[in-house]
Amino acid sequence: MKYGDDYRKIPMYSKESGKGTEFLPDVYVFVDQIVNVLFIGRPEANSFVIVDTGLYKRSEKIIEAAIERFGAHAKPSAILLTHGHVDHVGTVIDLVEKWNVPVYAAEAELPYLTGQKSYPEPDYTAEGGLVLKTSKFFPRDPIDLENHVQPLPEDGSVPFLPEFKWIPVPGHTEGQTAFFRERDRFLIAADAFVMTKQEDLYSVLTQKKIISGPPRCLTPDWVSAKEAVVKLYNLRPQYAVSGHGYPMSGHELLEGLKDLIDHWEEKALPSHGKFVDDSDHQ
Ligand SMILES: [Zn+2]
Repeated sequence: MKYGDDYRKIPMYSKESGKGTEFLPDVYVFVDQIVNVLFIGRPEANSFVIVDTGLYKRSEKIIEAAIERFGAHAKPSAILLTHGHVDHVGTVIDLVEKWNVPVYAAEAELPYLTGQKSYPEPDYTAEGGLVLKTSKFFPRDPIDLENHVQPLPEDGSVPFLPEFKWIPVPGHTEGQTAFFRERDRFLIAADAFVMTKQEDLYSVLTQKKIISGPPRCLTPDWVSAKEAVVKLYNLRPQYAVSGHGYPMSGHELLEGLKDLIDHWEEKALPSHGKFVDDSDHQ
């Protein structure tokens, strides 16, 4: 296994970095620098699943968080990846080597997780892209997890999380996946939408909760991206966590999603940039 050749540490921290919060009795949200890492499982149950793995060279922080939540012998049953961007797969090789656990992702994302395909170059000219200037060289070379990563089952079930279904939400990446639990309508939204302002994505989070579209300069397919948000809204989630920003619930969540969909052009779509200019001519 190996990380992408252009992987590097990304020196960006939200003020929430390093904090862990119990959002639901079996959902622990740990903020690694700028991205959420989820631990699904009750602390006393002694089994849990990790969803997404934070940033490159941050495995100690993730392991510390697991120990804090589940005790000294913490070991997950599996790791789920919503997609293969560096801020979601940054420690997965270290974690697999430490714990020897299986990794699952959607089949359509596997080429980006097995060294076969690189993500498109980010569009730094898209609005909101300016804030990425400190990360001008966002790594995009594919990680290679070899046969340690397996496709999520075709029937929509999620290994080790029997109450969940996985839901394809392409747009931000080809094989991005969300996860949903019907019982309490809990949604793991990946980066289909984020719960912070675009301009705060890679810097200091404000206290204000707000729902934004997927990260602008890293999202190549805006038609699918909108369909994905509509699909997730139609599930009528009661609780949601996305890759970036604060967890949200109830009316605030549903109204925020509805508002994002109703004002997609102003609130989500970049007004210019290579990922949208092409479609102007269709
Ligand atoms: Zn992403």
